[in-house]
Amino acid sequence: MKKEEEKKEEFIKWFSEINKTSVPIVGGKGANLGEIFNLGVPVPPGFVVTTAAYKYFVEKSGLDEKIKKLLSGIDYENTEQLEDRTREIRELFIKARMPEDMKEEIIESYENLNAEEKDFEKQGNALKILEKKEPIYVAVRSSATTEDLADASFAGQQDSFINVRGNEELIENIKKCFASLYTARATYYRHKKGFEKEARLAAVIQRMVNSEKSGVMFSEDPAFKDNNMIIEAVFGLGEGIVSGTITPDRYALSRKDLKMVSKFISDKKIAIVRGKNKREETIELQPKKSRSRVLSEYELTRLAEFGMKLEKHYNHPQDIEFAIEGENIFLVQTRAITTLNTRSEKSGQNIRGEVILNGIAASPGIAAGEVKIVKTLKDLEGIKVGDILVTKMTNPDMVVSMQKSAGIVTDEGGMTSHAAIVSREMGIPAVVGTGTATTKLKDGEEVTVDGTTGKIYKGKVAESQKKEIRKVGVKTKTHLKLIVDLPTFAERAAQTGVKAIGLTRIEGIIAESGKHPNYFLEHNEMRAYEEIVFRGISKIAEYFDQLWVRTSDIRSDEFGDLKGAPKREINPMLGMHGIRFGLKYPEILKAELKALKRVAEKGKKIGVLSPQIISVNDIRGIKNILKEIDFHKCEVGVMVETPAAVQIIKDLCAEKIDFISFGTNDLTQYTLAIDRGNEAVQEFYNEMDPAVLYQLEYVIKVCKREGVQTSICGQAGSKKEMVKFLVEKGIDSITVNADVAADIAEYISELESKR
Ligand code: PEP
Ligand code: MG
Repeated sequence: MKKEEEKKEEFIKWFSEINKTSVPIVGGKGANLGEIFNLGVPVPPGFVVTTAAYKYFVEKSGLDEKIKKLLSGIDYENTEQLEDRTREIRELFIKARMPEDMKEEIIESYENLNAEEKDFEKQGNALKILEKKEPIYVAVRSSATTEDLADASFAGQQDSFINVRGNEELIENIKKCFASLYTARATYYRHKKGFEKEARLAAVIQRMVNSEKSGVMFSEDPAFKDNNMIIEAVFGLGEGIVSGTITPDRYALSRKDLKMVSKFISDKKIAIVRGKNKREETIELQPKKSRSRVLSEYELTRLAEFGMKLEKHYNHPQDIEFAIEGENIFLVQTRAITTLNTRSEKSGQNIRGEVILNGIAASPGIAAGEVKIVKTLKDLEGIKVGDILVTKMTNPDMVVSMQKSAGIVTDEGGMTSHAAIVSREMGIPAVVGTGTATTKLKDGEEVTVDGTTGKIYKGKVAESQKKEIRKVGVKTKTHLKLIVDLPTFAERAAQTGVKAIGLTRIEGIIAESGKHPNYFLEHNEMRAYEEIVFRGISKIAEYFDQLWVRTSDIRSDEFGDLKGAPKREINPMLGMHGIRFGLKYPEILKAELKALKRVAEKGKKIGVLSPQIISVNDIRGIKNILKEIDFHKCEVGVMVETPAAVQIIKDLCAEKIDFISFGTNDLTQYTLAIDRGNEAVQEFYNEMDPAVLYQLEYVIKVCKREGVQTSICGQAGSKKEMVKFLVEKGIDSITVNADVAADIAEYISELESKR
């Protein structure tokens, strides 16, 4: 009797009784559900029919002997025979009688699930005061003890049964679920691995939520690492989102304080619901409901809290499915975000390994290789193809070596630092702002750099994988332009099919010569300087029709190592760079403009973009030089990247400029008084800060009135939240990194179709 009791105990385990260590008893799926249930995260209540129950069932019903017989002596390589025998086994499962004691316990537990329960979050405890009601709907899902042992879904076999209702149906479906252990493929696999004796399965029985609202949450935006979490929601069942038939509401919440950063309320038109015959039905929504917001503030906050809790628990960003019934929020699935962008990129890998360092994910992709610490320029000589370049902060002198390396890691810097900008353009995985890479990592040590998550792993734990460029496949009213700074990578950027460049920084071209412009000036070599700029831009222009090229903006912190460079300033961000430098040394600016004139003469449409503008005199100065060199066939543009330019935007427009481009990297820095290069304050650096957005909105409004084109060329133009904001404000074009061009184009198209 005692033995019998013990056995019974093991037939069923409630979610509250299990955790991640329970895999041998309840399988992986069951253990995961128990783990998050016990975290206090609301999963739909349920229990697991254990592997012990499975064993009891096959033994008592004599199935084990029959299976043994059917499998003995078969030729596992004979697919047809294997298919036949396993089908027979599966049929035997369905025909077999479940032992009464096991059946009773399952039914009793099923009825317990049906108990009147005010607080779903506490449900799952078998010792409840029960009240009988109509049978409820449950899902029956297989839960295997090892990932590969019985992955029926991977063999295209059904192992998950939804909308199961009533005692008989439940028992039938549990048997079907158990039978799914014997697909031909899983059986073959176990045989090969010598696991056949261990074949066992558990079945998760979980209450089905009759979703009034549902959706998905990414605890970190998988496409754009900008410290936001993304929640998408529709009315009814989540199938509409998964299949893409309904455009969901989209909410972005800051990961810092869980406050909403942006929201997009879609016209959902339809909802998918569970109909009377259990089938999914599509219903049309009334126009008012269709355009109404799906999730309340409260629901968003709760969801965000759960998302962060799960991320913290699993130490990895999560992709979570949720369902809401009445006032109850349920999380129905959680898994690690393994791809960079779950919608369009397949380059992610689920890396397992020891994380030895963390930083800011600056350029996506994975790189495994040997560490090469670069402290002085001399160290650059030691870099071999495939090394991981580790340095305090990259500078333009390092560009050639950066091209050789497989991955880049820096101590300093944020998303707009030199290392981040250049590695993205090169498509080299990079992690910046680690704080201690140059001291923690050792020369020659093997590491794996994940530029998507910002993690550095010990040893080679994943295959290197660069991010591919996708061709832009949609036409949008808001024009898309590219950032292309490096001639060597122009061809790569051109793979997007985009023909217009919204920003070329010429500093990289200049730095490749190893000399600061001052050097050319001092040595009376302005022709040589002009030639260097001309050649670089010409190489880029081979692939594009229209180029907005910025005159040099050379800061002493980045270019201090070039020959003839002035001393590093105490406050380089506020120092002698941009147009004030060009106008102080007009021969340098003139040489740059002459180079651009020559490119224009080759039939390219050139826009001259002036950096760090703070006064109308700046624009007058540049226009005078253009006149002097007889360069009239160009557009003249202003980088709006200082609060001063915002304040005087009307006056700048009155100077008859053709376009402005927002340099949000600097505009954010100068507005918020946050050094964009100092990783210690990166948490305060936010281009979506209202103080920045307000200025963007104002400038667009003025420029529209004055007939001046507007664009953005700061890093924020590659972020969806910013794109949404700017498209809504009516910006004319958006300038992005080539690696996100296709994503952003699709997003703009989506936004425009809703306007
Ligand atoms: C900016 O400030 O946003 C910009 C595009 O220029 P840079 O990053 O070169 O300062
Ligand atoms: Mg700038």
